[in-house]
Amino acid sequence: MSDSTSSINPNGILAGKRILVAGVTMDSSIGFATAKVAQEQGATVLISNFGRALGITRRIAKRLPETPPVIELDVTDEDHLAALPDAVREHVDGLDGVVHSIAYGNPATLLGGNFLDGPWDDVAQAMQVSAYSLKALTQASRPLMASGGSVVGLTFDATVAWPAYDWMGVAKAALESTSRYLARDLGAEGIRVNLVAAGPLRTLAAKAIPGFSDLEDLWGSRAPLGWDNTDQEPTAKAVCALLSDFFPATTGEIVHVDGGFHAMGA
Ligand code: NAP
Repeated sequence: MSDSTSSINPNGILAGKRILVAGVTMDSSIGFATAKVAQEQGATVLISNFGRALGITRRIAKRLPETPPVIELDVTDEDHLAALPDAVREHVDGLDGVVHSIAYGNPATLLGGNFLDGPWDDVAQAMQVSAYSLKALTQASRPLMASGGSVVGLTFDATVAWPAYDWMGVAKAALESTSRYLARDLGAEGIRVNLVAAGPLRTLAAKAIPGFSDLEDLWGSRAPLGWDNTDQEPTAKAVCALLSDFFPATTGEIVHVDGGFHAMGA
């Protein structure tokens, strides 16, 4: 059952915008919270996911203020990427924004303290799904953003080494660099590319990280604004702000939504 649509603001900051949010599985997904805030701010939203979880995504989609179309997109599948423009055009005639809310790294081999033993095949997969895919998704969406647009991805501050995060941290460093090169190459087309660096949030992906609670504990004691690891909305709001017309001259940027943690030395 859909919720009431009364929360949708036709004059919101995303009124008239067409937004694809890639990477929605559960209602705990950052992508779900982003889709919700985007709809509340007046956007027409499409969501995507892949493989076995697609059925879950279709069910979860009904919990949004308006049930959005669900597109199948495995960001490592060249056929899916090539078919994306047609799949999107079945619902809207173009896109003004794309959200990359996707990451994967084998938790058994790449996370939780196994850094020195992480096998290359798994590292390569993490790199492709979590970093290269920002380029792949952006490139696939480019024909849909003929009048420019905004691409926003999600990172976990990759400027330092963390407990437990291991090879996903390396993948995030690659993601951050990828966003800057995309910003360089697509600025002339009016396409902005930015990231939001969120603090730890209890999503499906996060709960699979052995040692994730160590990160949560750090935030609990050090973030000057405090940090609620069950509240995806602050992160979603920042993503929507970057999708909106309120950041017209910002690209290649990383906006921290972490309660101020990144600015503290101890
Ligand atoms: P999530 O709900 O598990 O979302 C991750 C999404 O990536 C899932 O929908 C997953 O699908 C999808 N995905 C994995 N492989 C894919 C592929 N090959 N093609 C397409 N989609 C694929 O977890 P989340 O925490 O919201 O993660 C969203 C983003 O936020 C990620 O980039 C994550 O690193 C980032 N982030 C998270 C935190 C945090 O603490 N949670 C903090 C900072 C940044 P399946 O579920 O079907 O595998």
